[in-house]
Amino acid sequence: MELVKTIIGLEVHVELKTNSKMFCSCSADHFDKESNTQTCPTCLGLPGALPVPNKKAIDWTILLGLALEGEIQKNARFDRKNYFYPDLPKGFQISQYDKPFILRGNLKLVSGKNIRIRRVHLEEDTGKLLHETIDGERVTLIDFNRSGVPLVEIVSEPDMNSSDEAKEYLETLQKIVQSLGISSADMEKGMMRCEPTVNLEVSDGKSKFYTPLVEIKNINSFRFVKKAIDFEVDRQFKEFLEIKIEKQKGNKTTRGWDEKKGITFLQRAKEEANDYRYFPEPDIPLIGWSDRDIRNWKLEIGKYELPWDKKKRFISQYGLSEYQARILTQDKKTAGYYEECVRIANGKEVEIANLIINKRAPENLTPEELIKFISTSQTTQEITEEKLDELIKKLLSEHPEAAIGYKNGKVQSLGIIVGLIKGKTGMIIPIERIAKFISVEK
Ligand code: ZN
Ligand code: MN
Repeated sequence: MELVKTIIGLEVHVELKTNSKMFCSCSADHFDKESNTQTCPTCLGLPGALPVPNKKAIDWTILLGLALEGEIQKNARFDRKNYFYPDLPKGFQISQYDKPFILRGNLKLVSGKNIRIRRVHLEEDTGKLLHETIDGERVTLIDFNRSGVPLVEIVSEPDMNSSDEAKEYLETLQKIVQSLGISSADMEKGMMRCEPTVNLEVSDGKSKFYTPLVEIKNINSFRFVKKAIDFEVDRQFKEFLEIKIEKQKGNKTTRGWDEKKGITFLQRAKEEANDYRYFPEPDIPLIGWSDRDIRNWKLEIGKYELPWDKKKRFISQYGLSEYQARILTQDKKTAGYYEECVRIANGKEVEIANLIINKRAPENLTPEELIKFISTSQTTQEITEEKLDELIKKLLSEHPEAAIGYKNGKVQSLGIIVGLIKGKTGMIIPIERIAKFISVEK
């Protein structure tokens, strides 16, 4: 039995940073606020309270959909998704079912591979359960400050085939959201939450088999997304060898991620959509757009500099290589820092880029200090990009085990090359800088 392919789809929830909540005027800024101080009858789900949709949240959802090359749906609707859980005071979540704001879209990975987006819809967040011990007793408390905060859900098709692709998809999505300025998309703070669904294609040389779908919950960093998927791939393959159960309707399960133990654990057998008894939200009218609305959004999205635009601009404006531009635009902070430095020291664009990418300056310098560091440090010997390339290639050929390990999914096996380069040049270069010289068959 052989593992042919890993199949990964991602559901991502992003909290929008609108001033008010999705269906009421309470503040949506709930992080670190005193519990239950930002609530009203609507977001507490009290009888008779009526929802009024937040226009800005809808605009932002559509902008995100357009950034993902999605199709705006001319007729959209909110639906009730019914389920019982203590953090959901109404007993249903207002979400969207068969008429979401956006259908079909695309997200391109650096390799050129396209990940299809199935849908982008808008819904409301739930309250937060806090498990604590008070007077020696284990209790669960509920904070409703988060209840009703606008939440965009982005669902991909199962087009990713490795944990690295899933990680890159998420990082790119985060960059897009941040460049639109619609959310901090901070995973550690729960502003961006992702749930990968993973299964495998295996083969005995004659026939193909598919392992049952598993959805993984509670992942709060990019690093853990990768770890959780890698763990799950291993676990599913071993499980299939043992019990040979194939994917079929109704046998999808949900597993939690335990970051301390580094394992996934069974949470529950998955509800099917019809368990949620979706039906149209009767308190909110249907939402329809005119051609003019749609034209306006398309004009609007043109005003934003999306990650790939920024990368192109860095290449043309500052004369950087594709690689340099990609690293520097990986997050907003680094890109802003670089541009600030370049503004002070005209003509040193490439030098500054190398300094930042290769971490050759002391950490946490202000742009002014960094420029000063350049002009005063004669000790740092200059190594051109080409020289560094040569050195990496030479070391890779002297240590073939590093590349072999990397090809087998052990990224850390390139650590030896990083160490050798540090010894020879004093530079700490990112693994990616080395990896680009290794071809990985997909
Ligand atoms: Zn409220
Ligand atoms: Mn959802």
